Amino acid sequence: MQNNPLPRTLVVSIHDVSPQTQDRTQAILDDLTLTGCACASLLVIPDHHHRGRIDETAGFGDWILSRQAEGHETVLHGYFHQREKTGRESLRKRLVTEHYTAGEGEFLDLAREAALERLRRGIQAFERCGLGTPTGFIAPAWLLGNEALEAVRMAGFHYTTRIGEVIDLRSGRRQGSRSLVWSVRAGWRRLASLAWNHGLMTSTSQGPLLRIGIHPPDWDHAAIRRQILAGVRAALAGRKAMTYDGWTAHWRAAA
Ligand SMILES: [Zn+2]
Repeated sequence: MQNNPLPRTLVVSIHDVSPQTQDRTQAILDDLTLTGCACASLLVIPDHHHRGRIDETAGFGDWILSRQAEGHETVLHGYFHQREKTGRESLRKRLVTEHYTAGEGEFLDLAREAALERLRRGIQAFERCGLGTPTGFIAPAWLLGNEALEAVRMAGFHYTTRIGEVIDLRSGRRQGSRSLVWSVRAGWRRLASLAWNHGLMTSTSQGPLLRIGIHPPDWDHAAIRRQILAGVRAALAGRKAMTYDGWTAHWRAAA
């Protein structure tokens, strides 16, 4: 660790950015800026639950483009953020994790060609918003099957992340780093999240890369919001805030 050439970094990501969450995302960004964190990776859903495309919703394109101009990164985050029902209940059961419901695992069991087609549509939606081609793809709920991972590589993305690692899709290298993430669906989950992340902030404080993942509903809960912002503030005492795209560039240069 002593001679690790990687800069000590904090990457804050905001998941599920779409026309439906635009206002809350802006509120989160305003609070992050006040806390000293000037850049974040914004995980954008092109057609959130089939409720309207980013490039066809008045005002969204201009808003997200302005955030990108401020130094925030736009990352492709699924296409619909919704998994079609397959009727395979055993699989459905497997998808129910601590933080997500089965219905969010859009890229878990997509075949390669279907995944590739959806990724290309997502890239097109970004380009129609003027955002350019995203370098990062992060699967909804971090659930990325092997065929879909291959499709992400074929589509030309530079990196992806899972809950416990960042993957350089060109070299295949992996950097282990457990993302902090909160679960707010029920009171007991919020309490468990506060305790779990308190421990995780301590246990991950030495690694080169600290990842904090925020979901828009987190901001409805004052205790969660306070813990996240306190964590960001503490991390910035010894780390530089970067986007995933920026960090990946450093990681490659250090290799
Ligand atoms: Zn998501």
